[in-house]
Amino acid sequence: MSNSFNADAWVDAALASAGLRRTAATLALARLFARGDEAMLAHAQVEQLLAAEGLKVNRVTLYRLLDRFAAAGLLRRTVDAQRVSRFVRSSQEGGPAPRFECDDCHRQFRLADDSQKLNDAARQVLQVLEAAGHEGHTIDVSVHGRCAGCATDAAPRSAS
Ligand SMILES: [Zn+2]
Repeated sequence: MSNSFNADAWVDAALASAGLRRTAATLALARLFARGDEAMLAHAQVEQLLAAEGLKVNRVTLYRLLDRFAAAGLLRRTVDAQRVSRFVRSSQEGGPAPRFECDDCHRQFRLADDSQKLNDAARQVLQVLEAAGHEGHTIDVSVHGRCAGCATDAAPRSAS
């Protein structure tokens, strides 16, 4: 675990990039993984840990939240031979998960994980906002364009 890891920033960025509102459940869940005990947690364990904090989260809701976090690349999911999913915070530290979306085929691509510079930049943006008295919650780094597949398929752009 990196000593520059900022759990609060991760929680904020996590909820933002998963498109989740800050509720007792989403915050507790994000904080659980931000704490980063590095263990892989199965649904049932997550449920128990949240319950230990006095938070009862509906099982279906919990599954959906974990899926959202995983889909947003915030959690890494592994599935064992018994088909039990386990989750751990992705190695990517802190900030936003940059995305690239192709405007032609609308596929989304996740940028590589080695984005420490992007994360630093994101934090600086938040600091500038903070200094101006604003409260920045969401940083969404998204790049639009044409993916490699479409660029080779469709140069020149064909009207279909
Ligand atoms: Zn494309």
